[in-house]
Amino acid sequence: MNCNIAVIKGDGIGPEVVTEAMKVLNAVGKKYGHTFNYEQLLMGGCSIDKHGVPLTDEAVERAKANDAVLLGSIGGNTQTSPWYKLPPELRPEAGLLKIRKELGLFANLRPAYLYEELKDACPLKEEIAEKGFDMMIMRELTGGLYFGERKTEEVDGVMTAVDTLTYNENEIRRIAIKAFDIAMKRRKKVTSVDKANVLDSSRLWRKVVEEVAKDYPEVKYEHMLVDNCAMQLVKDPAQFDVVLTENMFGDILSDEASMITGSIGMLASASLNETKFGMYEPSGGSAPDIAGQNKANPIATILSAAMMLRYTFDLDREADAIEAAVKKVLEEGYRTCDIVSEGTQLVGCDKMGDLVAERV
Ligand code: NAD
Repeated sequence: MNCNIAVIKGDGIGPEVVTEAMKVLNAVGKKYGHTFNYEQLLMGGCSIDKHGVPLTDEAVERAKANDAVLLGSIGGNTQTSPWYKLPPELRPEAGLLKIRKELGLFANLRPAYLYEELKDACPLKEEIAEKGFDMMIMRELTGGLYFGERKTEEVDGVMTAVDTLTYNENEIRRIAIKAFDIAMKRRKKVTSVDKANVLDSSRLWRKVVEEVAKDYPEVKYEHMLVDNCAMQLVKDPAQFDVVLTENMFGDILSDEASMITGSIGMLASASLNETKFGMYEPSGGSAPDIAGQNKANPIATILSAAMMLRYTFDLDREADAIEAAVKKVLEEGYRTCDIVSEGTQLVGCDKMGDLVAERV
């Protein structure tokens, strides 16, 4: 297969971790007979330095011309970097918002998986961590409260702020379909999370999810109220497979789910649109505190590349090979500094990439 990938290395540790993910992709290409063509684009601080804006229109067009985007991270130290003295629309993060919007990325996927070898880093009680967990939080990314109308005004002499939570049935349907499609590639269970006991938008959400579910008889589904879900994530995370939810609930629940895995350097993510196109990136930021020191953990980016193979290119066997290689490296006791513990062997970012690539 010929795969065209726009690569945005970005700032901070971005270039280091993306280089390792490309190394692993190249190993997959060699073993399974695929060609990965990379087109490097600028976004974030590096684009500000070169072009004066965090993302040029030309870079957006080039990203669209590829099949997927592999992104490192963008931004610098928000206290000291000159990028943060610029107006908000010219700061690094504006590039990220622009590319998400331009590419129509409405579905955000964040897997939360507890590796056997990293159980000690899990903040949950031992008997809960013991059971492990492997879930995919699927968050709607372009609707709901964060994009609704808002205003702050004085009403009868009292300052009053209004935010609006709006969803239409089409927005709900397209993400529900994605969730059920993804459940078909996993353990075939969807938990749809809402607040249907209070909110109209949640009652519509529930109705549309039920309609979509009819087309997926093999997938078991359930509804869960968001407050209960927040509790269940720490009480019994093993029960979840795909967790489908709207923007704000997903924002909060996906961070809670990442927290219980114990390490930000291990967490992949994907943002998808209606086609197979996706943008794949680690969940963490640009980590300016460790940038350029060969200390970053590249596994989140490597696993994001595996998600790209699975969801954009339908190369499930190859994605499995990357995930198995990561597990193997951890089993053998290699760790970057963010996950190192007694009795394990500390390695740098590039060595971690070599180890995973060799085991693909
Ligand atoms: P961060 O995620 O960059 O760092 C938080 C902590 O986690 C740091 O101690 C860092 O060293 C560590 N860390 C993160 N990723 C790691 C990895 N792969 N390996 C080892 N350790 C890792 O968050 P922050 O410090 O709040 O933000 C730094 C910059 O990143 C800011 O400019 C922020 O706006 C930006 N940011 C970008 C993205 C993105 O590109 N999508 C996301 C979040 C934050």
